[in-house]
Amino acid sequence: MIPLLDLKLEYIYMKPAVDRAIKKCLAHQQWILGPEVRELEEKTARYLVVKYCSGVASGTDALVIALRALARRRFKKNYFDKSQRIITTPLTFTATGDAILRSGATPLFVDIDPQTFNIDAEKVAAAVTSDVVGIVPVHLYGQACQMDAIMSIARRHKLFVVEDVAQAFGGKWGSRKLGSIGDAGCFSFFPSKNLGGFGDGGLIATNDAALHKIIQMLQKHGGEDKCNAVYPGYNSRLDTLQAAVLLAKLKYIDILNKKRQAVAKVYHENLSELAQLDLPPLVTDHVFHQFTIKVRNNKRDRLKKYLKQNGIDSAVYYPILLHKMPLFKKAGRCAGKLPQAESVVKKILSLPVGPLYGKTAIGHVCKIIKKFFLN
Ligand SMILES: *Cc1c(COP(=O)(O)O)cnc(C)c1O
Repeated sequence: MIPLLDLKLEYIYMKPAVDRAIKKCLAHQQWILGPEVRELEEKTARYLVVKYCSGVASGTDALVIALRALARRRFKKNYFDKSQRIITTPLTFTATGDAILRSGATPLFVDIDPQTFNIDAEKVAAAVTSDVVGIVPVHLYGQACQMDAIMSIARRHKLFVVEDVAQAFGGKWGSRKLGSIGDAGCFSFFPSKNLGGFGDGGLIATNDAALHKIIQMLQKHGGEDKCNAVYPGYNSRLDTLQAAVLLAKLKYIDILNKKRQAVAKVYHENLSELAQLDLPPLVTDHVFHQFTIKVRNNKRDRLKKYLKQNGIDSAVYYPILLHKMPLFKKAGRCAGKLPQAESVVKKILSLPVGPLYGKTAIGHVCKIIKKFFLN
């Protein structure tokens, strides 16, 4: 059986470091905002080359809090108005759109580039109206969005940019780490992400001191301390225990991301001659949170079933575009038709891409895929 990702392999790989980190917490018993949280914030800030990082309870909270902080920073309001729109992609996890709604704004879905699966920067430029206040680009599957184009659109129209980096910790755009380019970068430490904890967790990165201050208030009940609430806030903290595990794992992130790239290369070596598949290009700095292929001729679901019968997991991320979900059908808007997203969503299939899968495991997956197409 080959699961999509085998977290046990990762744990065994770094067991001594992780066990030591957990034991340290057992000894000091500072479970809420213990020393590891501050240390993780400092080390991630250094790693991402940003001024400030705030640990929060999840990637979803990171997005909600960053957006609400921008409502205060830019408009002096606790929430955006419904008439204010935030551009994002329809091909993402529910949380991206949900966070926009919870910040008070209306998500405006813009079509994707079918080659990269990311939001199409030219279509973003065309979708900007006077109601648009910001952009939430999602670095899907670990690949960077076209950040130069997106930042120049944002500058031209005075929009904010909140990067959804949940799937791309350690990924880069040119020389810059993803999450350090926009007004804020929002990370998730959900266990299956490239840098994952042993439970929920998230982080907000920013270079804006005033924004950072509001973020820190919102995550602590909306005040400079929890007895002096000024804004409607949250109790959203990164657990000490999660921070400890993440600190131990942070040392390995670059090695593991490189190993993911090596896995992607093995897929290319084995599958590139199959005309029925489109493989994701081996782009530099793609951190392959997912290795997502496009299956032609409506054969995606049959291939998925065949893989399952042969003990191989695969998944569709994501089977339902946001603008097709009941919630966003009502509460969201689309920038015209979204034909690329609607076509791609029927073809995508994510294959096992654990960083510690060797040539043998991935070679076996490829063999079964080839067998399917030869039958
Ligand atoms: C995982 C994910 C999130 C949400 O993160 P959680 O930590 O699960 O709340 C947001 N956006 C994207 C693109 C994700 O993949």
